[in-house]
Amino acid sequence: MADTDTKVIQIAGSITVDELAKALGLSVTSLIGELFKEGIVATINQRLDFDTASIILDELNIKGVKLEKKNTATKTSEHRHELSDKAVGRPPVVAVMGHVDHGKTTLLDTLLKKKTVEGEAGGITQHISAYQLEYEGRKITFLDTPGHEAFAAIRQHGAMLTDIVIIVVAADDGVKPQTVEAIKFAQSANAKIIVAINKIDREGADVPRTMADLSQHGLQPEEWGGDITMVPISAKRGDNLDKLLDMVLLTSDIEELKADVDIPSEGLVIESHMEMGKGSVVNLLVTGGELKTGEFIVAGTTYGKVRTMLDFRGKPKGKATPSTPVTVTGFKELPNFGDSFVEVSDEKTARKMALLNAQAAQNANASANVTSTDLLRMMNVADNSKVFNVIIKGDVLGSVTSVVDSLKMIDTKGEITLNIVATGVGDVTENDVYMAEGGETVIYGFNVNVPTNIAKMAARDNVSIKNYRVIYELLDDAKGEMENLLPSEIIEEDKGEMKVLGVFRTERTSIIAGGEVLKGEVKPKMLARVMRGKESIGEVEIESVQKEKLAVDSLMAGETGGIALKLSKRLTLEIGDRLKFFTREMKKRKL
Ligand code: GDP
Repeated sequence: MADTDTKVIQIAGSITVDELAKALGLSVTSLIGELFKEGIVATINQRLDFDTASIILDELNIKGVKLEKKNTATKTSEHRHELSDKAVGRPPVVAVMGHVDHGKTTLLDTLLKKKTVEGEAGGITQHISAYQLEYEGRKITFLDTPGHEAFAAIRQHGAMLTDIVIIVVAADDGVKPQTVEAIKFAQSANAKIIVAINKIDREGADVPRTMADLSQHGLQPEEWGGDITMVPISAKRGDNLDKLLDMVLLTSDIEELKADVDIPSEGLVIESHMEMGKGSVVNLLVTGGELKTGEFIVAGTTYGKVRTMLDFRGKPKGKATPSTPVTVTGFKELPNFGDSFVEVSDEKTARKMALLNAQAAQNANASANVTSTDLLRMMNVADNSKVFNVIIKGDVLGSVTSVVDSLKMIDTKGEITLNIVATGVGDVTENDVYMAEGGETVIYGFNVNVPTNIAKMAARDNVSIKNYRVIYELLDDAKGEMENLLPSEIIEEDKGEMKVLGVFRTERTSIIAGGEVLKGEVKPKMLARVMRGKESIGEVEIESVQKEKLAVDSLMAGETGGIALKLSKRLTLEIGDRLKFFTREMKKRKL
């Protein structure tokens, strides 16, 4: 924001407590607390009129500007404050999703090589979480994320920043589980969908069949009268990528994506990590206003003065407009992935807001422990549930958060409690192994290294380290580990019935008897319930089956023969008893 002393927040008519909290970068709880101090009792969805909101703004040394309300149907107005009539167009924010190996990375790489100025793309070596292309003189922002779960995590943190989701489907493989997930995600995030039918250069590629497949999953191609644009491409060879980008621009034109620039800057933390010599290095996506170096920003419980700001290529950038991803330094501590940030007027205000957020977080934690329902739930969990202990290591904070949030989303129907022993950024260390020792704790690495000496140490100490580069594989593994903790399910299947016609020998642990199979069959190794009248008097195992004194594999309904039974407890058999044969299996349960 250009104004240096007082920051301005624009309020169109009225604003909800939730919206105001977001605009201020405060948590809802702390804003409600602040309102309470001013004698205003408010709830999260309550609308505050301009004058009421101003009381709080004055407190925080922020200027409120009353705006004439303008009807906009853009995304921004749904989840952040309303747009003013001064709002300007902004680039679309695009995410690429789809099944593993269908070509997401290749598509992003090819686009990056093709559409950024020659020589610049080559310089990008470190993990970037977002970048911008220029096409037809316009900008498009691409988000590169560890997986759909990352989006789910961002969504959980209360913001929806994707405008368009490109769903990549390989034409030689069709719709797969993660394709379906991607569709569901895009729909629930209210993002526009464009399908890229990839790998059309492959021999087995079948575009019409892939389209049919997609229409089975609710995406009707435009060619067939539906509303979903589907572009056949080859991410590898670069075929039709211009068409794909045309469609992205067209979609964003239809959506009329806009943002206000004449407001304090705001946006979302999309990545953060510590770097030697630089301190916190944080990737932000600006969603409103213009972020500049030297400005004070608050994100969650931390704040800072923007010391350096680089674009996604690592080049210094003076000013970042909406939809621009930038990397900044200057935060006092690492903010969390998914936190919203907002610019404030000075350090004092920044510190105060960060503190308020920290207090609110603490209060929220403290009260979570004391409600009786929670207590009850925790007790139940302790009684019936098994605990799955994990340590999570990731290459950057964003991946750690995604992994943690995604693990928490695995539905264990309350039977398994996820216990995150520790999390951290960087390679698996001796300390991780030390912490995992003896506690049946699994160490998950995501995009990190496991140094050989650490792997050896873990093997020696019987600690399991599992390292993944694909988040779904990690989640599948974790699910499998949790399933192993579930008690097995016992499955019994009825096999047949015999009427006892004679008892030939009874010993302490065995009986030999003869009878007629009334229904089904009997085979060695089956189990039988001994029924006397309506009562079951015990369970026995069939050791062998005979017909006319010869051992046979089975006796079928209608046949008579002898059986040797193994007893686990003392039991006598009488003529007229019935043996009900069955098998019993232990089956591992699925989540
Ligand atoms: P991701 O898991 O979705 O990110 O998939 P990748 O981009 O890693 O691609 C998986 C494999 O498919 C790689 O071996 C790519 O080279 C290959 N691939 C991706 N796009 C194409 C394409 O358009 N044509 C062909 N023939 N192969 C492709």
